[in-house]
Amino acid sequence: MDLFEYQGKQYFARWGIAVSPGGVADTVEEAVTQAEALGYPVVVKAQVQVGGRGKAGGIKLANNAEEARQHARNILGMDIKGHVVKRLWIEKASDIAQEYYVSFTLDRSRKMDLGMLSAMGGMDIEKVAEDNPHAIARIWLDPVLGFSEVQAREWVQAANLDPAAVEGVVEIVQKLYRCFIEGDADLVEINPLILTPDGRVHALDAKVTLDDSAAPRHPEWEEYRSLIFDMLDSRERRAKELGLQYVGLEGSVGIIANGAGLAMSTVDIVNQVGGQPANFLDIGGGTGADGMVNALTVINEDENVRAIFINIFGGITRGEEMAKGIVEAMQRVDLRSPIIVRLDGTNSAEGRAILQEHASDRLIIQPDMLSAAQKAVEVAGG
Ligand code: GDP
Ligand code: MN
Repeated sequence: MDLFEYQGKQYFARWGIAVSPGGVADTVEEAVTQAEALGYPVVVKAQVQVGGRGKAGGIKLANNAEEARQHARNILGMDIKGHVVKRLWIEKASDIAQEYYVSFTLDRSRKMDLGMLSAMGGMDIEKVAEDNPHAIARIWLDPVLGFSEVQAREWVQAANLDPAAVEGVVEIVQKLYRCFIEGDADLVEINPLILTPDGRVHALDAKVTLDDSAAPRHPEWEEYRSLIFDMLDSRERRAKELGLQYVGLEGSVGIIANGAGLAMSTVDIVNQVGGQPANFLDIGGGTGADGMVNALTVINEDENVRAIFINIFGGITRGEEMAKGIVEAMQRVDLRSPIIVRLDGTNSAEGRAILQEHASDRLIIQPDMLSAAQKAVEVAGG
């Protein structure tokens, strides 16, 4: 689960990491009220779960109420890489002497925690890694052994930061690692971590991904979950309630596949043959008729859908069970659109035989994935 910047900063603050004071605003008036309370200059920041907000025009400095109003008006409702801005974070502006980058994440290949620190902050770290790989100081940590001050100091020295920043950064990276471990995060990232002209070090941005597997021991995460839920579109909300792995898209071909990889390939192939997928939906394995009913219910409520492409590759889940699930689901859900099925893998012959008994212009069985995609796109009207 990804947090919004302001939630990430609130999370950081629990481990004593310095952040700027600020407040949330959902309307232009709230933004001005927050700005007035903080005192100018303030920064008006779009709250969307995607990087590069600054470049997209979603981060603006305001020196007075008029500017705060203007920026809030422009940024609310703005589309940043497909994310619509519904909430702002208004923060006291900082003076910046230096911008650094720091993060902790998991290095799966080494089975260790990986810390990255760079004097080249404020920009895409992927770009720094590509153009100046030596500008990133890396440290691998064993979570059982922890992170000593000596290690922190050596790491910070290796990053060649401004000497004035060293003490502050040594302190903050230790707090950030505790936040990463105790806070059960998969990723904590500060970009930029700044040095102010008067020698203070603090977090100007926050990216936190929480480890969903740790949710049972964090009842307080419920607050984040319900907010993220509020931000979903109505189809995605419905899917979540039904426990489906669903992502809403804009097109007319509804998609159901068993397995996330197959579902992604299905989205790709529909695009490839000139269609527009209405969604991504992984029905998983062994869900039977109930899972198929839930999946078809969500897709059926999407008014853009004109054809439903069910793409099944039987593995542990056997083909005839999937076929029975589809037939039963069709009896239980009053579908607006025809179904096009591709069924392969374990017991596919038995599965197809069951489907054939019910074949009609509402249930079309195709021999392979490509022809099924083409048929679905044709039925949806291109
Ligand atoms: P991102 O573009 O989504 O990563 O958003 P950030 O929160 O990192 O902000 C982008 C850039 O805006 C930063 O790298 C800073 O250069 C600038 N910025 C953000 N907050 C402030 C601030 O308080 N003062 C100043 N001077 N610049 C800021
Ligand atoms: Mn940033």
